[in-house]
Amino acid sequence: MKKFEIQHDRPNCIGCAACAAVAPDFWEMNEDGKSDIKQAKDREDGWQIREIEEKDFAANKEAADACPVNVIHLVDKETKEKII
Ligand code: SF4
Repeated sequence: MKKFEIQHDRPNCIGCAACAAVAPDFWEMNEDGKSDIKQAKDREDGWQIREIEEKDFAANKEAADACPVNVIHLVDKETKEKII
């Protein structure tokens, strides 16, 4: 069961590439200059979503911590708590 959800406020990404540098298994840079969550679902509002297992939390927390404009969020699916 996937415990967490990564949420990427892609419209507000400034394309600094920090997320792709610290968590390349989950993040990559797109030709348009912004980052993408690999294997993400694209929402109509431009955000990207991906569910992850507990073992993948640390890498994505590191990406979220590295994001200078705080557009990477992690949500606990059970409690709906927004961790970052
Ligand atoms: S660290 Fe944040 S601003 Fe930089 S590319 Fe990743 S999501 Fe975009």
